[in-house]
Amino acid sequence: MNTYINSFVRGRELLKKLLVSDMVTAIIAAFTRSNPMVMSVFSIATVLLFIAIIYVDIKYCRCPNCGKVILLGVLAINTCPRCKHSLTTGKKVKKGR
Ligand SMILES: [Zn+2]
Repeated sequence: MNTYINSFVRGRELLKKLLVSDMVTAIIAAFTRSNPMVMSVFSIATVLLFIAIIYVDIKYCRCPNCGKVILLGVLAINTCPRCKHSLTTGKKVKKGR
């Protein structure tokens, strides 16, 4: 299923960008405490980006083999914790390399 492979990889790339943006807005919010107006704008942006992250994660970051949503460690892990298939290719990963 090529569509699954692409959507996981694409979803993960999008997720990386959203995470970086979320960190940037969170940092800006933290540094603009003296200006409540600016701070609230960036705080809202941080929350909205966080919601977008969850949405992209649930929508795209699924195991291509069993469909499990990979919520935690999506950027670090390459194999599905449930079925042990590769998340990028959907093929079975051999134990111990
Ligand atoms: Zn799986």
